[in-house]
Amino acid sequence: MGLCGELVAETGPVRSAPAPLPRPVPLTAQVPRNYGKILPSLDDRTPNLRTYVLQNGDTVSEVADQLGLDPTSLLAFNQIKSPRMLRPGLVLKVPDRDGIAVRLDQPSTVSGLALQYHVFPEAIRFANRLSPEQEAVAGVVFVPGVTYSRSERRALLGEQFLWPTIGGRISSFFGRRNDPFTGAKTLHSGLDIANYMGAPVLVARDGVVVSMGFNSVLGNHIVVRHDLGYTTVYGHLSTFVTSPGARVRAGQLIGRVGATGYATGPHVHFSAYHWGRLLNPMTLFG
Ligand SMILES: [Zn+2]
Repeated sequence: MGLCGELVAETGPVRSAPAPLPRPVPLTAQVPRNYGKILPSLDDRTPNLRTYVLQNGDTVSEVADQLGLDPTSLLAFNQIKSPRMLRPGLVLKVPDRDGIAVRLDQPSTVSGLALQYHVFPEAIRFANRLSPEQEAVAGVVFVPGVTYSRSERRALLGEQFLWPTIGGRISSFFGRRNDPFTGAKTLHSGLDIANYMGAPVLVARDGVVVSMGFNSVLGNHIVVRHDLGYTTVYGHLSTFVTSPGARVRAGQLIGRVGATGYATGPHVHFSAYHWGRLLNPMTLFG
């Protein structure tokens, strides 16, 4: 009988182990597992800078939401000009707060930028990994604590829509109006653009034709579903130039202006929805 290993006395003086260090909270706990991994940066000059590896099926809005950020901040911080540039495996740097990217046409200073955007110079230095003394800045600078205007947001998120015909004249805006036939106050669910009979009707954004049909109000109409929860409707058409299920590109001809359904003259009625909620279409164009 023999023991191979070293026998350790169970009694006697025992060196107490050093107190365990507090366990760091795993950063991955902040997002569900299927949202990829947040890794602490390997660069120890910036302990607060985190990264996120994009997974298949991630969208910038979902990822940003999980990180507690606005999607435009993620794009700005990584100098990504459009969500279309996002690919699985891409490593996104995660800022610690929302902000915008400012492209400097000529060299500027941290204090100048701080004054211009009403933020602390230290915040700019921290976000851009500048040393405490650095003043001169050039190129693209992330300015934390500032948000984009609505139109800048739409442009950055690729949420702009094209005008759904060529030319034409707005004959009725979205909102409450007097019904053109009865005079009663009603909600006009879209934008009416008067145009000549047979003028092209163009899809406002890439998408899929989800339905095509006729009803007494919209006449011949087409419903197109887009990404990011958007749906658009094109009404009163004289003819269809697409088919249900077709994939369509922004600006593609899908029909022709008519006066079918509830219409006083040739026009296209254009409605837009975001996750089922009606939008004022005028807010969607560039
Ligand atoms: Zn209308």
